[in-house]
Amino acid sequence: MNKMLGGRDVRKLIVAYMNDRHKKLKRINEDPTRIYAYEASQCTRLSYYERVDPITSNSTELFQFLLTYGFRHSFENIESEYKVDNLTLVLAADIILEKELVVRMHITDSFPGSPKPQDLLYLNACLYSFDKAEGILIYVLGDGRTSEFLVAKSAKMFEELIRRARVLSTLLKERRVPIIEPSESCMTCKYYGRCYMIERKETSFSIESLFGKSKDEST
Ligand code: SF4
Repeated sequence: MNKMLGGRDVRKLIVAYMNDRHKKLKRINEDPTRIYAYEASQCTRLSYYERVDPITSNSTELFQFLLTYGFRHSFENIESEYKVDNLTLVLAADIILEKELVVRMHITDSFPGSPKPQDLLYLNACLYSFDKAEGILIYVLGDGRTSEFLVAKSAKMFEELIRRARVLSTLLKERRVPIIEPSESCMTCKYYGRCYMIERKETSFSIESLFGKSKDEST
C-alpha cells in the first residue's frame, strides 16, 4: 500500500496509530517493585529493554500483540497480585474452570511438542497466586485446532520465577541491563542486533580449506 492522504503517507499514519495503541494496551509500568509475571517468565533482558529503552515494534509484532490481546480479553482475564517481601508479581488467568482449574491460552503458528518453558512458568505462578493445584495450557492454531497440557503445581518452578522477578526488579532499579539469555526466541527478537553484534566481513576462509583443498582448487 502506498496511498497518500492530504499529502501524508497512509501506511505511516496507520503504523503510528498502531504503535500508540500498543503502548497504551501494554501498560508498561515504571515501578520496578511491580513485575508482570510475563516479564519474569520471558527473557529478562527483553523485558528490561521494553521498559527502559524500547524499539518501536514492526507491523507483524503489532498485529500479533493485538490478536493475542483481543483473544485473551474475550475470556475473563482474571487479574491477581502476589506479594513477596517488597516485590509484587502481577498476573492474570484467562479462565478459572469450576473454581479449580486455571486456564491459560496461547495463539501459535504450530503446536509445540511440549509446553514452552515460559508458558509453564507463567501458568505455575497463576496456580500460586490463585491458590489452585492444577492448570491447563491450551495452544490454539489460526484454524481453531487446539493442543492441551495439564500442569501440576511446582514449588521449584515458582521459586525460579520469583528469583527472575527479583533480579529484573533489582536491575531495573540500578539501571543495569540483564545478561543475554540465548534461546530460539532470539531469532525473532527485535533486540537481536543489540545482543549479538555481528560484523559481516570478507574472508579468505572456505569450508574446502578445512579438508586440505585451497579455495582456487575447489572451483
Ligand atoms: S535477542 Fe535474545 S537475549 Fe537478546 S533480548 Fe532478545 S530474547 Fe533476550
